[in-house]
Amino acid sequence: MKGRITINKELCKGCGYCIMACAKKLISFDKNFNAMGYHPAMPVNIDKCNGCELCAIVCPDIAIEVWRK
Ligand code: SF4
Ligand code: SF4
Repeated sequence: MKGRITINKELCKGCGYCIMACAKKLISFDKNFNAMGYHPAMPVNIDKCNGCELCAIVCPDIAIEVWRK
């Protein structure tokens, strides 16, 4: 299954839960700050995403959306 995620960086508080949750290591911290002063999470190598949704499930700020096809 192919998946894709988007992360709303302005909702993200940079807790890193999604980074720890992704077994494929497809999420990293952005070196830039968001408006709240956090380093938000951002997708990397996202063409390898399988849409498992773990990153979205663990996000306490509902900042991640997942699509599958
Ligand atoms: S949906 Fe699964 S594979 Fe895709 S980025 Fe999130 S945790 Fe990683
Ligand atoms: S789990 Fe949510 S709030 Fe935490 S770093 Fe990931 S996107 Fe940001």
